[in-house]
Amino acid sequence: MNIQKELLTINPFSRPGTKLIVVKAIVIHWVGSVGSTAKQCRDYFESLKSQSSACYASAHFIVGMSGEVIQCIPNEEMAYHVGAKTYTPDAMGCLGHYPNNCTLGIELCHPTTEGYFTEETTRAALELCALLCTQFGLNPARDIWTHNGITGKYCPKWFVDHPGKFEDFKLGVAIMMGKR
Ligand SMILES: [Zn+2]
Repeated sequence: MNIQKELLTINPFSRPGTKLIVVKAIVIHWVGSVGSTAKQCRDYFESLKSQSSACYASAHFIVGMSGEVIQCIPNEEMAYHVGAKTYTPDAMGCLGHYPNNCTLGIELCHPTTEGYFTEETTRAALELCALLCTQFGLNPARDIWTHNGITGKYCPKWFVDHPGKFEDFKLGVAIMMGKR
């Protein structure tokens, strides 16, 4: 698949340069900003390096509404996508006390506040997850999480509102892996 690498500059707020301990899981997010493109989201993460407040945010991949995929943090490095004060018991059990250090984050763009994903976004996200699950030996049914499943945050809205769609998504990844 076509992955555009537009890596962030190393900086304390979005690309700390810290190595992941291991890749145990993939975490799905929505960008939360209606109509934002993958490039705009990537540039937002980059802009955090020169902010005056202290907002920490990033993800490894961003999938746009046309199915474009931008990678802004290398797979070996930590992103700030799932940090919180508290984590769900499930996440603590599977991913430890700081899931940022063992997960890859994927942000999905969306055209409306409802948060549904375009066919192009969904297809590209399925393909990306299948690729990463194969590369890191992950089981989609067990190792693909929503941000909500890890911290309780309302993210990604579409999958929180429609849990069946998330189950379909994970099944879609498994099917795609079987085809490879
Ligand atoms: Zn999120």
